[in-house]
Amino acid sequence: MEKVYLPATVRPRGDLRLPGTFLQRVRRSTAVLWPRMLNLSCAALRPQAPLTVEARALAAYLGLAVGDALGATVEFLTPKEIQQQIGVHRNLTGGGWLKLRPGVVTDDTTMSLALGDAILACQGRVEPLAAAQAFDRWMRGKPVDIGNTVRRNLVRFRQTGEPHALPSEHDAGNGAAMRLLPVALATLGQDADAVRAAVHAQAHVTHHNILSDAACETLVAMVHDLLAGAEKKTVLQRHVQPLVQQYPLFGFRRRRCDNPSGYIVDTLQAVFQAFFDTDGLEDCLIDVVNRGGDADTTGAIAGMLAGAHYGPKALPRRWLAVLDAKTRAAC
Ligand code: MN
Ligand code: MN
Repeated sequence: MEKVYLPATVRPRGDLRLPGTFLQRVRRSTAVLWPRMLNLSCAALRPQAPLTVEARALAAYLGLAVGDALGATVEFLTPKEIQQQIGVHRNLTGGGWLKLRPGVVTDDTTMSLALGDAILACQGRVEPLAAAQAFDRWMRGKPVDIGNTVRRNLVRFRQTGEPHALPSEHDAGNGAAMRLLPVALATLGQDADAVRAAVHAQAHVTHHNILSDAACETLVAMVHDLLAGAEKKTVLQRHVQPLVQQYPLFGFRRRRCDNPSGYIVDTLQAVFQAFFDTDGLEDCLIDVVNRGGDADTTGAIAGMLAGAHYGPKALPRRWLAVLDAKTRAAC
């Protein structure tokens, strides 16, 4: 754990302690690309600090984690069940079908961190074998949850040593999309072909599917622009509309997407509606997780986008404080 200076709006009382692993990862992964940022450390997060790329990257990681922890409570519930049991779900209370302690994250966050480690160990390159080995180690650590496609293709990797899953029209789940943040950070500033290759390299370890690929490419491009400070409207026009044009299934303006499944099309429809139709990180995450369904994953992906867009000041202090407590206990 390390002490950081967060904007007053997210500081509970005095100084806040944040998970050092997040900060370290963000610093190291951005440093891979911009040596000039090596010495910036957490200065970017002091009060009145400008909203730098580093601050947005940190907020994307924390947004992913709080979205995951928030959504896990209501994963697999319908909006109606959430309404009846909780009302509006807006706090990191733990529980849910996984019976989690408050603030505990699931595979969406822990796979992202495992992938980030693998990328850092390869000097910022996204290597399929290193990613597969990292996921395999992660699976041996008995994670609290694991998707079916992830499990099946990691078992196959164990048997064959082959880090590329076979193409499958059935593997259109959201498992590759939920963990791609470190790839977005590692490829920032690279040309389109290099970015696409890196996106596929990590995704195809478990999900080799054109809809998953299209979603992952779109999300990485969105994160790149959001980290650079692009407006939501710009990101919509530059990346989401072309995706919908190519794959009309992703069209998210027809009807409200409640109870989104783990199918990447459902997941992104709910995420896009929540991200584009709200005006803040907290509203966005409360909106998306209260749709139920695969709520930890919609929360994680929406949290990543909203964190990159709104920055660290937008992270509610009551969420960070609970996430923090969990990490402190685990140290
Ligand atoms: Mn999960
Ligand atoms: Mn999930």
